Amino acid sequence: MSDNNSDSKKDAKHKVAMAKQKASVDASIDAADTERGIAILLTGDGKGKTSSAFGMVMRALGYGHKVGVVQFIKGEQLSGEEIYLREHCPQVDFYQMGTGFTWDTQDRSGDIAAAIKTWAVAKPMLQNASYNLVVLDELTYMIAYNYLPEEEIVHAIRERPPGQSVVVTGRGGGTALQTVMDTVSEVKEIKHAFKAGIMARKGVDY
Ligand code: ATP
Ligand code: MG
Repeated sequence: MSDNNSDSKKDAKHKVAMAKQKASVDASIDAADTERGIAILLTGDGKGKTSSAFGMVMRALGYGHKVGVVQFIKGEQLSGEEIYLREHCPQVDFYQMGTGFTWDTQDRSGDIAAAIKTWAVAKPMLQNASYNLVVLDELTYMIAYNYLPEEEIVHAIRERPPGQSVVVTGRGGGTALQTVMDTVSEVKEIKHAFKAGIMARKGVDY
């Protein structure tokens, strides 16, 4: 009996809380009156930036949108998303830096040349209104290392076609970049499997 009583009290409390939340969400939805592409920065030291960007690629493809993906770092490892896009999504324009840049950089001028070559692929995408979504994966490092001029990147993002969305990933990302982005999310590391000695996992980490 008392259990039932406390359950119905909890139910009533929950109902009030949900109604309050719904009113607040509905008000925000009503207040949003601008329709245009969104610039998103996914940064921070935790896992989930690149995989979130590819989640948005999948969403866009679901609606038949045109997608461009440019990756500014050559990983040691081929990634599942690269394999999948190349094999199953010929409609996605996919470009990877490919040469030069690795974490153990020995050749700064070679890396800069590779960054400039890669930016020369990305920049025209940001000027081409036929792309609904452009992903610039790990671009922040190019700014952090001063391999590419931040002003030029910020300008290209700001001046992109109004209907185009852009996702930039990578740790860091300067103030100027953050200012031009509409949404900035920081993925914070609470734990990472790697630090417990668990090896990077195919299909999960790459
Ligand atoms: P993901 O590609 O899994 O979404 P990410 O883009 O957020 O990760 P990056 O900094 O680009 O992370 O690192 C890429 C690789 O490094 C991934 O294999 C990821 O699991 C791993 N990684 C991400 N965060 C950490 C961390 N805090 N410590 C160790 N390895 C990490
Ligand atoms: Mg990443």
